[in-house]
Amino acid sequence: MSADRSLQILLDELGRLPGIGPKSAQRIAYHLLEADPEQARRLAAAIIQVKTEVHFCARCFNYATEQECSICSDTSRDRTRICVVSEPRDVSAIERTGSYRGLYHVLGGVISPMDKIGPEQLHVRELLARLGAEDIEELIIATNPNIEGETTASYLARAIKPLGVCVSRLASGLPVGGDLEYADELTLGRAIEARRSL
Ligand SMILES: [Zn+2]
Repeated sequence: MSADRSLQILLDELGRLPGIGPKSAQRIAYHLLEADPEQARRLAAAIIQVKTEVHFCARCFNYATEQECSICSDTSRDRTRICVVSEPRDVSAIERTGSYRGLYHVLGGVISPMDKIGPEQLHVRELLARLGAEDIEELIIATNPNIEGETTASYLARAIKPLGVCVSRLASGLPVGGDLEYADELTLGRAIEARRSL
């Protein structure tokens, strides 16, 4: 394969990554070409490792390397509370606040009629099954404060309240329309502590 072709394959792959336009793809590709071969090998190995070893937790759908994630298998956590989030990265955001010691449930998205995503496309059935099987007293809904996040929260509240579980929602104070992921730890921590029941 020619050098041009070889470089083009790398540029095409880099260009498929989120937030990487053609200019950035070129900068990264030339950086890797000039970099120490060991650095490039470490990057390639890290990508392969994460893709082969990381999968979804069988209980909460967070990322895990074992059957269950490190949070589900931590016996010191408060097992009477489940915090419901949209994506695994929201688990990391809430963990960074240090304000929450319960368990999680990752929905794998949010209800969005425009994108034809309803509760059946999310891990809602598995959540209801957990409420039947585990000793859960409170469900904290921590979907993003935007339209889809609010729609999802009210759907879950309606479905779950009849089961006799307290349902609460993060307090306001988070930027409306924003992403949990980008909220600062203090604001997010306060929103968890000041959650209101639905
Ligand atoms: Zn888990």
